[in-house]
Amino acid sequence: MAPTIGVLALQGDFREHIHALTVIGEQTLMVRTPADLARVDALVVPGGESTAISKLAVAFDVLEPIRERIEAGMPAYGSCAGMIMLADTILDPRSGQVSFGGLDVSVRRNAFGRQVDSFEAVLHAPKISGDRELTAVFIRAPWVEECGSDVEVLARVESGPNAGAVVAVAQNGVMATSFHPELTSDHRVHSYFAQLVKERA
Ligand code: GLN
Repeated sequence: MAPTIGVLALQGDFREHIHALTVIGEQTLMVRTPADLARVDALVVPGGESTAISKLAVAFDVLEPIRERIEAGMPAYGSCAGMIMLADTILDPRSGQVSFGGLDVSVRRNAFGRQVDSFEAVLHAPKISGDRELTAVFIRAPWVEECGSDVEVLARVESGPNAGAVVAVAQNGVMATSFHPELTSDHRVHSYFAQLVKERA
């Protein structure tokens, strides 16, 4: 049976993730409760505001169930705020802010600073897009500041003052991007994740 990819639908741009996954032919389900979570084979954590997603995950009783599923091997993908939610360590959390974890990384929220609040950059992520370019949209984005030895770096910023910053990572079945592929019509990141989900099914 085809896997069902859940999209955490508490806050943020979950509709855009559902759209991207639907366009590439994946079966999706909005996840808001532990019962929803039990029906999915993988989970996407959207972009939005990680402090709000953190609070709502506690309020909707999905924090621990999601932690447990990820720990038990459920594939997960987070964009932007979703990256923060999948990081084991948030370097500058708001007080009480928690994450699901799953990626042995430390992330810094709003890392690119005010000057470059939002921007687009052309990246190369060979695993995701071969030698073709990938246009990445960043909105008050985090970056990965430290990576454990099992973490694979999928992409870095290539030019400008932040050249070298790690903006896409994966570890086992968990991946994250600082940018928002759900806001473009290029669905290669979603296809890459869907492939990973199938390999792990
Ligand atoms: N800065 C936001 C946060 O801390 C993330 C922004 C985004 O998802 N576009 O959650």
